[in-house]
Amino acid sequence: MKHISLMGATGSIGTQTLDVLKEHPDEFRLSAFSVGKNLDLARKIIVEFQPELVSLSEKNDMEVLKSEFPGISFTYGQQGLTEVAVYHKADVLVNAVLGSVGLEPTLQAIEEKKTIAIANKETLVTAGHLVMEAAKKNGVSLLPVDSEHSAIFQALQGEKEKNIEKLILTASGGSFRDKTREELQNVTVEQALNHPNWSMGAKITIDSASMMNKGLEVIEAHWLFSMPYENIDVLLHKESIIHSMIEFHDSSVIAQLGTPDMRVPIQYALTYPDRLPLPSANRLNLAEIGKLHFTAMDFNRFRCLQLAYDAGKAGGSMPTVLNAANEAAVAAFLEGKISFLQIEEYIERALHAHQHIANPGLTEIKSADAEARKYVSSLI
Ligand code: NDP
Ligand code: NDP
Ligand code: MG
Repeated sequence: MKHISLMGATGSIGTQTLDVLKEHPDEFRLSAFSVGKNLDLARKIIVEFQPELVSLSEKNDMEVLKSEFPGISFTYGQQGLTEVAVYHKADVLVNAVLGSVGLEPTLQAIEEKKTIAIANKETLVTAGHLVMEAAKKNGVSLLPVDSEHSAIFQALQGEKEKNIEKLILTASGGSFRDKTREELQNVTVEQALNHPNWSMGAKITIDSASMMNKGLEVIEAHWLFSMPYENIDVLLHKESIIHSMIEFHDSSVIAQLGTPDMRVPIQYALTYPDRLPLPSANRLNLAEIGKLHFTAMDFNRFRCLQLAYDAGKAGGSMPTVLNAANEAAVAAFLEGKISFLQIEEYIERALHAHQHIANPGLTEIKSADAEARKYVSSLI
């Protein structure tokens, strides 16, 4: 029996993680979880999974649930997230929270030698060097949940990282795949949220439409697989059937395929190095699909991807600023305060305004993050 703590239980990845746990009640037990503000869903999860510790974003919400469930421990806020992350009974932390708030709890969980199943890519983008350093020092495994990184991780089994020529991350192209830049001028929030292949949280759906999601994933891949940016390619593949590929020095390519279903990479991270059945997953039927399509990436059309490569290569505090400015700009877009193309504009301006720090520690990361958010707010 593996004990799981789950940050972000009410989100898209969080609820799908719960689905995986439900499929294998003899294998997994949910010991602790965190939510943001979704009290209704938190109640349902408590009733169904009977955890020992629950954290909410707000103190008031915590008081409400505390009075309803006297047998369970409750906590709240940033401290609460960390308490869930390091919960003493948990063997594995599933980090499915949104944004760079996931960083410090993850670092703490690594210090406590928890295995980390990581969906929360912002944590790796904002301070990948700190996370990887801590993981190495503590002998902790970081198991990717993001489908592209899970694909690479799966393709790597039995292989050696030193034999990799390059990583090829596939990108669906998001909801605006077929639009020109002119057509992007006036797109709405509703149009952006209508992703063709995956049903995901609002922020990552916008990131997919702007291609920043792929940019964040390039940086995530750089850290998870110690790969120079020059050796990470992105390929448009609209069907989301090939989830990513590795090309080896001998020119052989290994790809991982499957129907688009996040429960598969979530479950793999939880069962690794073993696998379990997932009876409710749709099987891949290539004869039915018939054709798969691939197109080279257009870096002018998808400016955010170029910004991410540039910030990644510059390193230091630049990816922190990229990520924080993106979080702030996407939130403003979702609130209807800025246009879609202003997202990339504000990120670029935040990167220009920032004084690069070469090897930032946690304090410098936090202040670069706060500074970038403040800068973007000042533009709105
Ligand atoms: P959602 O928006 O669906 O869920 C986010 C979760 O985090 C919710 O439980 C939310 O709580 C909680 N949360 C949000 N902000 C805070 C905060 N400030 N403090 C505490 N809790 C907070 O996101 P997704 O599930 O889509 O994505 C989660 C992570 O996984 C992201 O990093 C994303 O990039 C990554 N990812 C997602 C994929 C997907 O298919 N969705 C695929 C690959 C990666 P509440 O709702 O209760 O307020
Ligand atoms: P169910 O329809 O049986 O959903 C489980 C319960 O969760 C129902 O009581 C439903 O309430 C409630 N629920 C579902 N989605 C939400 C939501 N977004 N916010 C608040 N409550 C919700 O199971 P399905 O498999 O059809 O679930 C639908 C989707 O929601 C799936 O993708 C699943 O991954 C996810 N989910 C999973 C949960 C879990 O604990 N495993 C919990 C909630 C959602 P009602 O039908 O009355 O709205
Ligand atoms: Mg992904």
